[in-house]
Amino acid sequence: MPRRPLALLLLALLIPGRSLADDAPSVKDWLADNQKALLGLYTELHEHPELSFQEIKTSERMADELKKVGAEVTTKVGRLGVVGVLKNGEGPTVLVRTDMDALPVTEETGLPYASKAKGVDPRGDEVGVMHACGHDIHMTTFVGTARWLGENKDQWSGTVVFIAQPAEETIGGARAMLDDGLYSRFPKPDFALALHCRADGEVGDVYIRPGPLLASSTSLDVVIRGRGGHGAMPSLTVDPIVLAALAILDFQTIVSREILPSEPAVVTVGSIQGGNKHNIIPNEVKLQMTLRAYSEPVRLQLIEGIERRVKALAEAHKAPAPSVEVREHTPATINDPDLTARVEPLLKKALGDDRVINVDPVMGSEDFALYAQDGVPILMLWIGTISPERIKQAEAAGETLPGLHSSRYHPDPVPSFSTGIRAMTAAVMGLLPPKSDH
Ligand code: ZN
Ligand code: ZN
Repeated sequence: MPRRPLALLLLALLIPGRSLADDAPSVKDWLADNQKALLGLYTELHEHPELSFQEIKTSERMADELKKVGAEVTTKVGRLGVVGVLKNGEGPTVLVRTDMDALPVTEETGLPYASKAKGVDPRGDEVGVMHACGHDIHMTTFVGTARWLGENKDQWSGTVVFIAQPAEETIGGARAMLDDGLYSRFPKPDFALALHCRADGEVGDVYIRPGPLLASSTSLDVVIRGRGGHGAMPSLTVDPIVLAALAILDFQTIVSREILPSEPAVVTVGSIQGGNKHNIIPNEVKLQMTLRAYSEPVRLQLIEGIERRVKALAEAHKAPAPSVEVREHTPATINDPDLTARVEPLLKKALGDDRVINVDPVMGSEDFALYAQDGVPILMLWIGTISPERIKQAEAAGETLPGLHSSRYHPDPVPSFSTGIRAMTAAVMGLLPPKSDH
């Protein structure tokens, strides 16, 4: 137990809350001592990315790191998920989540630690693999937070459940971990926290928002059927390529003409496949679509609108019945308003008022939303990852910075994970009571 001046101790007894922790070695000082080791961890993770549900080495590393801080570690939760429970006496349970997977992207940053990794995607094709979504920053932040909390157990009381989740990019990892008993085999959290990199945000900034942050995402497989035949004799066929073209344009009228204009919604056809030769009319065309919305009624309205249109189109053209199938679905990420209201002042205290920025929601999506299951309040923060110099350079050149998932996206690692660790430790420490002296 560190010795404290008597006046400070008296002050701490008079002021409720976290004042006892104020004379402890600050996270900032700790970071200065640990920066090099954390940068080593970051570059190692960056150089060895693994695709979704293939995070074998990465999950082993996360399990080792959590064991080292004294957590009780369970592996293979939801295929490759890792759970580390750090118990430290009475108090609430806070869940801290990182994702682990990388993307099928060939890195083009030119950095000395750029990934040269290759992987095999679900279709069996060899692809370049890159942490193009910053999940390596998330993991470094996660490990840094775990190390700090493990080394400073005299500062807090309660339980922290650290989870390293596979397959965020393909939207399957959170579901797999929850279905494997995350909330029944391990302490059920009172709060769940996560953060994500922003590719357009300045390092040092943290972004927060109560309520909807990210949209729901629904993947649809649509098959438009016709009757194939010779390209020179279309009157003997029903051409599904023409039907698909009509359908794709008609889909856009769902958002522009049917959805309430004040409700955000997106309908995107990301893939269209049909036919294999100039002069053959094929039997069918396959579309892969993504739908985004914040509210469940709007999401259902989008699906119904697509079904109604392709069905009517088939009837109008005497075509066989089409099919519409929901492949996967993730709900909207809604930050719990009470939890957000508790964490926002903690972040301001740790990082400074001007570093905590309120943001608008975006139509991207995240399976972190699923941890709100069984009424668990969730909060996702965003952190800036680009140095002010790079932002200025891009502005001067009239260029936009590479976004997340770009082969040229690269965060400035040290200030990014340092801000992440300061934000995450401030949030966790603020949600847990200080260690009582008896
Ligand atoms: Zn991503
Ligand atoms: Zn991501």
